[in-house]
Amino acid sequence: MVFPTANPTKCYWIENAESPLRNFRSSDELPAETDVAIIGSGYAGASTAYWIHKYTEKASKQPQVTLLEARDICGGATGRNGGQLRPHAYSRYPAWSKRFGPDGAMGLIAHEMAHLSAFRDLADAEGIAEEVCLKFGETFDAAMTDEAWTRLKGAFQAMQKDHGDENDIVKACRLIEDAREAEEFSQMKGALAAVVHPTGQIWAYKFVHALLRIVLQKGNLNLQANTPVTGVSERDADGWVTVKTERGTIRARTVVHTTNRWAAHLLPEFNKLILPMRGTVAAIKAPPGFIKHTGAQHWDNTVNNYHLQLPPPYNTIMIGGARQLLVHRPKECMLNDEDDQEIAGVAEFFKSWPASDVTDWPGLSLAELSNKVDRSGCWTGIETSSADSFPFVGPVPARNGHYIAAGFAGHGMPRILLSAAHITPLVLESLNVEYSQPLLAASFPPLPQPFQVTAERVERLQNTNIAAIAESYKQSCEESAKKPFCNTERAILKL
Ligand SMILES: Cc1cc2nc3c(=O)[nH]c(=O)nc-3n(C[C@H](O)[C@H](O)[C@H](O)COP(=O)(O)OP(=O)(O)OC[C@H]3O[C@@H](n4cnc5c(N)ncnc54)[C@H](O)[C@@H]3O)c2cc1C
Repeated sequence: MVFPTANPTKCYWIENAESPLRNFRSSDELPAETDVAIIGSGYAGASTAYWIHKYTEKASKQPQVTLLEARDICGGATGRNGGQLRPHAYSRYPAWSKRFGPDGAMGLIAHEMAHLSAFRDLADAEGIAEEVCLKFGETFDAAMTDEAWTRLKGAFQAMQKDHGDENDIVKACRLIEDAREAEEFSQMKGALAAVVHPTGQIWAYKFVHALLRIVLQKGNLNLQANTPVTGVSERDADGWVTVKTERGTIRARTVVHTTNRWAAHLLPEFNKLILPMRGTVAAIKAPPGFIKHTGAQHWDNTVNNYHLQLPPPYNTIMIGGARQLLVHRPKECMLNDEDDQEIAGVAEFFKSWPASDVTDWPGLSLAELSNKVDRSGCWTGIETSSADSFPFVGPVPARNGHYIAAGFAGHGMPRILLSAAHITPLVLESLNVEYSQPLLAASFPPLPQPFQVTAERVERLQNTNIAAIAESYKQSCEESAKKPFCNTERAILKL
């Protein structure tokens, strides 16, 4: 069982947002009762609170919602991520079609792609696009080796073969096969070719804080920072779940677990299902508008970097990955919960990235980390690794009144908003309250079947062999670690 660490590394997104909700508590005392207790104030928890508000705003009575957060508000993965709202438009197609068939794979991709218009519509409706630095454009997967290009091009062609050139998602992707053109578009030195497709980018911490501010203004949300939930009961005969915290106990009609990596602390059956995986990101000062497109560099199946640049006045490049370095030390990532520690050598690796990897970088040989406060320029965060590679969304089997949306891995941005919209009517139905679908959610595609948390899935995954997963991860790192691109001076820095 595991709780979020007490002193997570300082992070650019959080320190520079300067949000008044950072450690907000709606009241000194916790409410004695609530209709919905949401546990965890990241993107999943905040979206659930937002959708409950939107689904019930026209009803005669709105449910009371209490949101309990162990850390400062949005202090987990969401506040510490890479800012990419970047659907897997084609790259997972071979793996997904093998498991779920061509239509199942396309359903998963369509659900991710639908997040782009969903974010656009929501941000427009609430007038928050500029505040949360929401931008749309094209992103690239740049192949830095022939091995990477074989995989990326093969993934696109498999999708194209099954669904035809007229399919909207196939049409939205394009290949750049000329190396000079790929380097020019991506600004990545040595790019051999690239796949380009639509994407978004966002300051996720600000987005969560904006959603919570909107719901707080309606008066039906009690928000409680720094209030870890230590236990939850079964629903009793009178229909109440007891939610325990060190600050007191709340009786809730329903509980929504949006606790990401930490779900198993309250729901032990998820112990083998949602595993920790530590990631790292840095913020680097850049000239305004220098990076034209968000993107990722790929060397092989394991080794990549991904980056974007924030609009003015921030201008900062946000870069994650550092896999060339990290494959040498797999234990720093897999099954690692230490987001209170930086990873030695990573800050230097990222600082040297613009001069080493970006064409026409105008700055010094070592770029400057964007430090608002001490050490916020490079940080760690806990992504998850789900036992079967998909998140868990829906009613918790065999636990009446409990719902979950967790385990979104290092790829939650194009998955969570619609997943939260999926569970919201289920929660409201169990409360027996009046609700109606908001216009914003009217065209959302259905939740992909692999996300559904069924009793059979939970039962089957109890057989997960965590040691074997860790060993397989270690072996893939060891294979990459032998390759030339993981043995440059930068990659073996400080080892
Ligand atoms: C370094 C890094 C980079 C990433 N980059 C990207 C990216 O660029 N694009 C992308 O799509 N995804 C990215 N991700 C993944 C993405 O951030 C996550 O999938 C997403 O934010 C998960 O949201 P969440 O609300 O489920 O979890 P979280 O944001 O982790 O929220 C869970 C919350 O629950 C709280 N909590 C846990 N247990 C308790 C308890 N018992 N009581 C009270 N509160 C509790 C935690 O403190 C936490 O705040 C990245 C993740 C990391 C770590």
